[in-house]
Amino acid sequence: MEQQKFLIIGAGIAGISISKALVSEGHSVKMIDDGKNRSSIVAAGMINPIVFRRMTKSWRVDAFLPFAKEFYAKLGEKCGHQFMHSITIRRLFSSEQERDFWLSKQELEEFCAYLTKLSSDDLTYGKATNLFGSGRVKNSAFIATHSFLEESKKWLSTVLDLVNEEVDYTKIDPETGEYKEESFDGIIFCEGVEVRNNPWFGAIPINPTKGEILTITSETLPENESLNRKCFVLPSGNKTFKIGSTYVWNTCNDTTTAEGRKEICDHLSYLTSAPYTITEQTAGIRPTTLDRRPIMGRHETFPKLIVYNGLGAKGYLLAPLLGKELADHLLHSIPLDKEIRYSRLKK
Ligand SMILES: Cc1cc2nc3c(=O)[nH]c(=O)nc-3n(C[C@H](O)[C@H](O)[C@H](O)COP(=O)(O)OP(=O)(O)OC[C@H]3O[C@@H](n4cnc5c(N)ncnc54)[C@H](O)[C@@H]3O)c2cc1C
Repeated sequence: MEQQKFLIIGAGIAGISISKALVSEGHSVKMIDDGKNRSSIVAAGMINPIVFRRMTKSWRVDAFLPFAKEFYAKLGEKCGHQFMHSITIRRLFSSEQERDFWLSKQELEEFCAYLTKLSSDDLTYGKATNLFGSGRVKNSAFIATHSFLEESKKWLSTVLDLVNEEVDYTKIDPETGEYKEESFDGIIFCEGVEVRNNPWFGAIPINPTKGEILTITSETLPENESLNRKCFVLPSGNKTFKIGSTYVWNTCNDTTTAEGRKEICDHLSYLTSAPYTITEQTAGIRPTTLDRRPIMGRHETFPKLIVYNGLGAKGYLLAPLLGKELADHLLHSIPLDKEIRYSRLKK
């Protein structure tokens, strides 16, 4: 197949995943990023296959998870870093009903890769406030987001043209796919919540959802598991933990707040009375959608313009396979999953 040339706007997890997929197939990529990342850099990077509210599997997790594992392992090899780390999530049940849900699902074949059968030790687990027992999620992990973004961009800059600048939308010719007089077969917009400034895709229904995270140190919290109830406690080594996160809908203001800090501390108090010290507070904006599905595909009038957005609260799980699916769509005309097509918004 003839080599094609793409321009990618945005080097968060969306932009990185589609770049890697295109470069792997031998195509030429130029990537522009303004360094004002609002989401991927703030994310805790948790990969949790279970939605606890209803004790269901995360959307398409059986496909997303193995692909993500391979993606982070292979990219890690190229960069000389390990990005994905396995960690068991220990859910402290919030009611008897939730425990019963778990008990009914743990026997089902489709859940056996994710739910450990409850043991008496789980039911009496004593390292956190335990009112209704606890259960361990298998096949869960976290991505070391800072080193992932830093190192994968370093590697990408050896295989593509990575430019640090804010895109000038007035220099894009939507008909021909030219940017600053350079010609491209496709321009892929991966701007996260900043898509609202995009002249062609600015109206896509992204609901900016703010999230805050605390970093704490604690001598007594367990470092071998990630505790979860109302908030997550993610060990990051040396008695340091990330705790989060809050959800505030419809705001692009990413300053940290006293309310966010209090909410996380209150939620942590349901889990543990262990003493801790707060060392950092961060905030970011998730690009979420009303139907909780990503938005991908070509513009209805200008097919050289392509959108890849709406990764919501699970970008690190979804993006590796979605990047490949978008590349397959652009290069080999393989239809995108109906649920994620940009064209679904046009009905
Ligand atoms: C508090 C918080 C916790 C989270 N926790 C998790 C988690 O545990 N697990 C998980 O999987 N996900 C988590 N997420 C969600 C995850 O961060 C997102 O799904 C994902 O990062 C979205 O990636 P993106 O590439 O679409 O957007 P972004 O990461 O925002 O990247 C967009 C990029 O485009 C660039 N850009 C934008 N406009 C322009 C322009 N005009 N010119 C040039 N460059 C531009 C930006 O600088 C940025 O680098 C969390 C998010 C938050 C805020």
